[in-house]
Amino acid sequence: MAKLSDGLLYIDGKLRPAAGGRTYDDISPWTGEVIAKAADATPEDVNEAIAAARRAFDAGDWTTNKEKRFELVKKFQDLLRANKERLGDIARHEAGAATGAVGLAHVDNALQGGDDYLKVFPDVAWEKDYGLREFRGGNTHRVAVYEPVGVVGAITPWNVPLYVQIGKVHAALLAGCTVILKPAPDTPLMGAIMGELAHEAGFPPGVFNVITASDPAQAGEMLVTDPRVDLISFTGSTGVGRRIMEKGAPTLKRVFLELGGKSAHIILDDAPDFPMTVARSMLVFHAGQGCAVTSRLLVPKSRYQEAVAILEKAYQGFGDNWGDIDNPGHIMGPVVSKKQQERVLAYIELGKKEGARLLAGGKARPDKGEGYFIEPTVFVDVDNKMRIAQEEIFGPVLVVIPYEDDEDAIRIANESDYGLSGMVTGGKERAMKIAKRIRTGTMSVNGGMCIAGDLPFGGYKQSGIGREWGREGIEEFLETKLIGVGGA
Ligand code: NAD
Repeated sequence: MAKLSDGLLYIDGKLRPAAGGRTYDDISPWTGEVIAKAADATPEDVNEAIAAARRAFDAGDWTTNKEKRFELVKKFQDLLRANKERLGDIARHEAGAATGAVGLAHVDNALQGGDDYLKVFPDVAWEKDYGLREFRGGNTHRVAVYEPVGVVGAITPWNVPLYVQIGKVHAALLAGCTVILKPAPDTPLMGAIMGELAHEAGFPPGVFNVITASDPAQAGEMLVTDPRVDLISFTGSTGVGRRIMEKGAPTLKRVFLELGGKSAHIILDDAPDFPMTVARSMLVFHAGQGCAVTSRLLVPKSRYQEAVAILEKAYQGFGDNWGDIDNPGHIMGPVVSKKQQERVLAYIELGKKEGARLLAGGKARPDKGEGYFIEPTVFVDVDNKMRIAQEEIFGPVLVVIPYEDDEDAIRIANESDYGLSGMVTGGKERAMKIAKRIRTGTMSVNGGMCIAGDLPFGGYKQSGIGREWGREGIEEFLETKLIGVGGA
């Protein structure tokens, strides 16, 4: 197993260890072995990072000099691209990305997203003219200016760390904010490399800071409660998102939340290639650890037995084509940690108890290695009220739910606390009509790609608040100031 370089903190323009030299072990999901040491930030370190970001925002020209921001973020992005191989190694060894998945969401799509931000930057509106209005016998000229919101705490998850980090960091920096990035404890090196490359890019001290820590909550809660931080941009679970809103309330923190999902794929009886569509619905990419994956498969009752037979064959066919770090064709590796493995296995046991029928998989696979492997798993005969259909499992576990007709499919898809994404496959007009009635932030019709760096992404309902990516993603970090100029 590869040994990766140890991670440092990046605070106030300096790459340095945590106070007192504190470190913690970064564990490989493939082997359970220590692959590197990460800096374990203390409250003192977090405090310094907040102070540095505040100073950099309040003094200097970062907030006003758009050209300088664009040039520096571009340089940072070029350095990320130049280090693509290292990013891929970190994604594989630290986040458990299979090699075939690195070329997708883990690194390639993340870098593409960074390019997309630079591409849409010229479209950001920095001013809006509201024209003249008469007031007390004189004319007022009304102009809105859009200004960076301030110091941003960016709190990120472990599943696709680079993608989420770029989603927040590039946008906030381009908007003119200063940033403190706090990566998930399981994936510190993906945060640390951003600090290292930002240092090389030469950002002014304090504009961008990275703090990695073993405690999942302490550093994040400091960011959420500190009055010097203006906005928290959080991606992670709905439970923690809720807590962030609560803890941020006393300082009326602006919160941007990208949370969990339990997205539905509705396959219609007139799907152009029904067998292929069903077979491709296996939930295996990155072992199902994606917020926008379609983890509920909705199949018409009229073709239900046919669909179940196709799925059984598809899972058999997938067989053992996963879980080998050296195989470039694999898109599925282990789940990220022992804790996550235990959680997913507990959901599989729950599914059996709830009366769903296990069609394939269902077990840990120690034969794949000492890490945290779970085989591709699918439950059929699932009722949407079961917990395995309502709760986010975040593992390779698909649930299949039969429906009566289009209205029933829409009802089932919407019967969820979540509203992140979804898919409809079938006759185009019928599928479009259904897509418009699903209460989610993104929808794919007939396999169309609705998630990209130039498109706004986010959730309805308990999947989040706000939008990330695209022009809208940069504008999330702006405040509106209205100026009325008299005597016009
Ligand atoms: P998590 O909520 O446990 O942790 C996310 C981050 O929050 C981590 O950095 C963690 O250290 C930090 N954190 C934990 N407790 C905190 C607290 N009390 N205050 C402040 N910060 C705190 O999520 P996870 O297990 O790392 O990631 C998986 C979850 O992320 C899933 O629910 C998944 O759906 C979600 N996710 C959502 C999206 C999206 O865009 N909607 C994308 C990726 C992942």
